[in-house]
Amino acid sequence: MALTEKIEAIYQEVVKRNPGEAEFHQAVKEVLDSLGPVLVKYPEFTEAKIIRRVCEPERQLIFRVPWQDDNGEVHINRGCRVQFNSALGPYKGGLRFHPSVYLGIIKFLGFEQIFKNSLTGLPMGGAKGGSDFDPKGKSDNEVMRFCQSFMTELWRIIGEHTDVPAGDIGVGGREIGYLFGQYKRLTNKFEAGVITGKGLIYGGAQVRTEATGYGCTYFVNEMLASRGDGFKGKKVVVSGSGNVAIYTHEKVTQLGGKVIAMSDSNGVIFDKTGVNLETIKLLKEVQRRRIKDYCEYHKNAQYTPNGNIWDIPCDVAFPSATENEITGKDAKKLVKNGCIAVGEGANMPTTPEGVHVFLNAGILYGPGKAANAGGVATSGLEMQQNAGREAWGFEETDIKLQQIMRNVYLQCSEAAEEFGSPGNLVIGANIAGFIKVARAMIAQGLV
Ligand code: NDP
Repeated sequence: MALTEKIEAIYQEVVKRNPGEAEFHQAVKEVLDSLGPVLVKYPEFTEAKIIRRVCEPERQLIFRVPWQDDNGEVHINRGCRVQFNSALGPYKGGLRFHPSVYLGIIKFLGFEQIFKNSLTGLPMGGAKGGSDFDPKGKSDNEVMRFCQSFMTELWRIIGEHTDVPAGDIGVGGREIGYLFGQYKRLTNKFEAGVITGKGLIYGGAQVRTEATGYGCTYFVNEMLASRGDGFKGKKVVVSGSGNVAIYTHEKVTQLGGKVIAMSDSNGVIFDKTGVNLETIKLLKEVQRRRIKDYCEYHKNAQYTPNGNIWDIPCDVAFPSATENEITGKDAKKLVKNGCIAVGEGANMPTTPEGVHVFLNAGILYGPGKAANAGGVATSGLEMQQNAGREAWGFEETDIKLQQIMRNVYLQCSEAAEEFGSPGNLVIGANIAGFIKVARAMIAQGLV
C-alpha cells in the first residue's frame, strides 16, 4: 500500500471507531495529513504502529454530575476526562464547561494537547476534560456546587504525578478555586501541583492568567519578525472577550498594535479608536456582563448583534473564541481585506477550507497547537514552582514564556523546512510535536 493510502486507512479506522465525533476526526486528519515525510524518515514508527496508538486515548472517564440550583432544583450534567497520552509526562490539559461539550470535542482538544505540550519542551502528556454545564448566568454558589460535584468524581484519576487539569472555556480562576478546594477536602492533602491556574495566594503562578494571550502575541511577533515586520501601527481584530482574548489585546497594545474589534457569543463591538481594555476587563472579569454593554461606556463604538467579526478589515487576526469560527469564506474575506497574519489563540478556530486559503495566500499563519501553547507552558512552570515550593516573579516568568514561544516557533519553522514545506507552520507544528512523542512511545515499549 502506498504511504498516503496507509495513512488514509488509519484515518478511516479512526472515523469508524469514533462515530459522530466530527471535531475529533478533523483534528486527527490535519495531523495525519502532515506525517507522510516523517514515516519515510522513521520507518520504525510504522512498524510500532505509533500513529494508530497515538489516535487511541489511553483512558477515558465519563461520569454523572448531579447538583442543585439555588431554588433546590436538581440538575444532571455529564462530565468526562480523556487521558490521551502520557509518553512525555503526566497527563495535562484543561477543563471546558460549555453546553456544546461532548466526547468528540474533548477528544479533539486532548489530541491537539499531546502535540502542543510536546512543542513546549516541558514534561507533560496530553489530556482534556469538561462538562456540558453552562456557568453563564449561574450564581457563584451554583457554580461552586457544580464544581464540587464534578471533582467528587474526577479526584480518583488525577494527581500531581498522574494528571493535572487546568482551565479552558468556562473554567477560570473561580472554578479552579472551587475544584481545588474540593480535591483538598476529599484527599486531605494540599497538593498544589494537582491543578494549574490557581490564585496567586494559594500556589498559582505569575503570568498564568496572561500566558495564552501573551504567548500567542509573542508567537505572531516572531512570525512578523521573520518578514522584518512588527506590531507597530497594525490594526488588529481579536475574537472573543474571555481569558485568551483579553490578554492578547493587552500584549498587542504593549507592542504598538491597535485592537479595533472584539466579540462574545452574542455579537461584535467595533471601536475605531481602539477597544478600551479596562472597560472589557470590568465587564468580563468583574461584572460577568455581555460585550454589547461596552457601548454604554463608549458611545462612538458600534455593536452588531450576531455580527461576523471577520468582515472587519485588519492587518492581523487573532481568533480567540472557539473551534471552526473562521470558515473558508471568512478566510477569503480576511485575505482580500489585506490581513497579513493570523495567530490562533483558540484551538482549531479555522476550518480546513480556511487553513487552505491562508496557506495558499502565503500569509503568516500560526496554528493553535503552536501559537496558543503559552498557556500550558506556563502551567508547566506553575507545576515546577509547586514542586520546588517556589514562587517566581512576574518579569522572570514572562521572560521564560517569551523564550518558550520563540523556541516553539523555531521548532515549527525548522521542521517545516527539514521536511520539505518551508513556511508551513501547520506541517511544522504537527511534525515537531509528533516526533518527540513517537520517540518516547518507542522508548517505553508497547504500553
Ligand atoms: P473563556 O471562557 O474565557 O472565553 C471564551 C470567549 O469565547 C468568550 O468571549 C465566549 O463568549 C466566546 N465563545 C465561546 N464559545 C463560543 C461560541 N461557541 N461561539 C462564539 N463565541 C464563543 O475561554 P478562553 O479564553 O480560556 O478560551 C478561548 C479559546 O482559547 C478556546 O478555544 C480554548 O480552548 C483556547 N485556549 C485557552 C487556553 C487558556 O489558557 N485559557 C489555552 C489554550 C487555548 P461568551 O462569553 O458569550 O460565551
